[in-house]
Amino acid sequence: MKVRASPIRVRLIVATAFAFALLSLLTTFFELRVMRKGSENADDARSISSAQLVKLYIETSVPGQWKERGGYLYRGEERLSFGPSIRGALEEYLPPDTTVLFGTGSPPAQARGAPKEASAQDVPVLEPPPAPGPPPDKAPRQMKKPDIPFHSVLGSCAVVRGEDGEIVGWLAISSGERRRTAQENFYRNLLIVGFGAIYLLIIAVFGARILRLTKPIDVLAEERELALAKNAELANISRTDPLTGLLNRRGLSEIVSNPLSRHGLSHVAMLDIDHFKAVNDERGHDEGDRVLRAVAETLSASVRAADFCGRWGGEEFVIAFRGLADEHASASAERIRAWVEARAFGGGAAPLRVTVTIGVSAVAGGDFEAAVAAADRAMYRGKQHGRNRVVMASSECE
Ligand code: GH3
Ligand code: MG
Ligand code: MG
Repeated sequence: MKVRASPIRVRLIVATAFAFALLSLLTTFFELRVMRKGSENADDARSISSAQLVKLYIETSVPGQWKERGGYLYRGEERLSFGPSIRGALEEYLPPDTTVLFGTGSPPAQARGAPKEASAQDVPVLEPPPAPGPPPDKAPRQMKKPDIPFHSVLGSCAVVRGEDGEIVGWLAISSGERRRTAQENFYRNLLIVGFGAIYLLIIAVFGARILRLTKPIDVLAEERELALAKNAELANISRTDPLTGLLNRRGLSEIVSNPLSRHGLSHVAMLDIDHFKAVNDERGHDEGDRVLRAVAETLSASVRAADFCGRWGGEEFVIAFRGLADEHASASAERIRAWVEARAFGGGAAPLRVTVTIGVSAVAGGDFEAAVAAADRAMYRGKQHGRNRVVMASSECE
């Protein structure tokens, strides 16, 4: 099936594609927002991300019983909890699927290829916490430089020290967040790809439907285009002189009937080739035609872009000048007369020379027809006075 990309179809398809693209963008944006919101809600608002876990610093002041008796949990400088127990504190702050392992003795080895440890600045020295439970009977000790949490095979690991700074144990926190994020990303990507596929399918189905529905419109549009082109061509033909390619009388009249073109029209010149009948008689009609074409070329080349000229009929031509003073219009006509006189016409062995008589008239009150008639009379006077000359309509009346 031949599919024509007519402007109306292209516009319809582009508009539909644009609408769907916008729709898909909006819905994807909305879905992502909903998903993000969902995942945010799923976590406790107070939960600690895996990135933050590594910055945990845990301090206890009750050696031996620290798992249950409690202590402080720090995230950077922020003191999160003084729990009745570390386990309780962790349960309060960590996502539900976080596993916390406690151990005594030396902490587990640091994981190979583990992310860079948090720097000491991330875990500033903090004032010692007050002892949990009954108030301590001795003055709070000044803490030494804290241990830097690190990644171990068991998760983010923090050393737990006793009151005197001795290591009493460790805890390792492994979060399900990484797993959940990967899972989330997978579903998110799946959703995006799925919606993308659905949108593509919709665009394809709608595109095909639009093409089918617009077929009659397209046929009409094509016919209209053809008719318009034909009309334009016919109109062009009817306004153009086939021999010289200049405007014909009708074309000239149509142009000056347009107020925009008539605006600024100052003079009309009527040009008639002298003794042209003799050219035809002596050189033949074809040679006469060549002379007519050559004179037309000379005219076209000599008028300005603002002026226009045409073949009025037979061996007569009309030039419409715009915005010229009388003397300039007369000088322009004189220049054209001189050019024609100087030019050798004809392709034969003996060069053929012709002359023209030109009558020039000012256009009064935008009346083109009256100006043409006055120029014609002036031209006729020129013929009577010996031809090959320019006659202004005003001087003709004197
Ligand atoms: P004048 O100087 O008084 O204008 O004399 P003229 O011979 O030019 O004028 P006349 O009106 O007697 O003759 C005009 C001639 O122009 C007659 C006609 O055969 C010729 N003619 C008109 N149209 C065409 C054309 O399209 N081709 C050719 N070859 N000749 C044409
Ligand atoms: Mg004539
Ligand atoms: Mg003539």
